[in-house]
Amino acid sequence: MRKWGFPAALLLCLLVSCQTESAVTEASFTAMDTVVTGRFYGAEAEEASAAIEQELEELEGIWSKTIPESDVARLNAEQELPKDDMDDRTVALLERALTLSGESGGCFDPVLGRLVSLWGIGTEDEQIPGQEELQQALAQSGAGKLQETEEDFRLQDGAQVDLGGIAKGAATDALRQVLDGMELDGYQFSLGGNVYVGGKKPDGTPWRIGINDPEGESAYIGYLEAADCAVVTSGDYERYFILDGVRYHHILDPADGNPARSGLRSVTVVSADGTLADAMSTALFVMGAERGLEYCAQHGLEALFITEENEVLLTGGLRESFTLTETERFQLSEGME
Ligand code: ADP
Ligand code: MG
Repeated sequence: MRKWGFPAALLLCLLVSCQTESAVTEASFTAMDTVVTGRFYGAEAEEASAAIEQELEELEGIWSKTIPESDVARLNAEQELPKDDMDDRTVALLERALTLSGESGGCFDPVLGRLVSLWGIGTEDEQIPGQEELQQALAQSGAGKLQETEEDFRLQDGAQVDLGGIAKGAATDALRQVLDGMELDGYQFSLGGNVYVGGKKPDGTPWRIGINDPEGESAYIGYLEAADCAVVTSGDYERYFILDGVRYHHILDPADGNPARSGLRSVTVVSADGTLADAMSTALFVMGAERGLEYCAQHGLEALFITEENEVLLTGGLRESFTLTETERFQLSEGME
């Protein structure tokens, strides 16, 4: 028997590794204007990859601002759209967006379409608008210009819906529902800055989600360990241009229509609710660290803030799960070690 011990163990290892390998599928494609990556473990790993691609294509078809037949594009063009003529998922998302806008004191605002187009950040037409144009776009913006009645949604004064700050989070929740109905042991996917980790990795170790280095010197400043939740980051380094040393980025302060200058480089929100995490990462970025931390404490939100001074601030629930690796350039704020 002894003689067979080693080869038998080797055979077992090979079988296990073959089994693990065959049950993993990686995905990488573009959808909703962003790079999508995924890793799926389990019997239906391959089907999972195809399923999320199809689901995202469908969601893009109803929520995109630029696909003319989408619910959002038709609402923007016609300024009024019956709910009967919209996908139920659009109705639910518009309602949620309005609720979260109210809860965030307007820092998250799904009706900034005019301002987003005027700045054009991340497009060929990006520019610093003149004061007059900015004031006009500001007057045509704001969640107050989107009304829901029993039968329809209505916009006023040419205001335009832009779900860029929440759609990827809502898509994250939709994908999670699709994947939870499949035979999978664990999975992880990312839609731009929106990551979701579900189930278990085959080796039993926790999922680690890297937190982007806003300075771009390393890939990550550290990582969070998490399970069955969304980890969503909004940062000023994703879409921006720099002119005369000033960084003009894509997160706008609804109060004045300019890129938010709140002293932050990024905000990461951790929540089982991907829609909430997406809207709130944008809102907390606008609020800044001090107001943001207060807001998190009041609303039971978990978040990580990186300031312009490379300080990292964490809410209580993340202190155990975050590990800082770029310790030369970044510091955990006092009391957060
Ligand atoms: P990303 O799209 O890079 O993941 P965000 O989730 O923060 O980042 O969303 C930013 C996008 O949301 C912008 O490109 C714009 O379309 C829209 N947006 C900008 N400012 C706001 C805001 N204050 N509230 C809601 N949406 C916003
Ligand atoms: Mg967001």
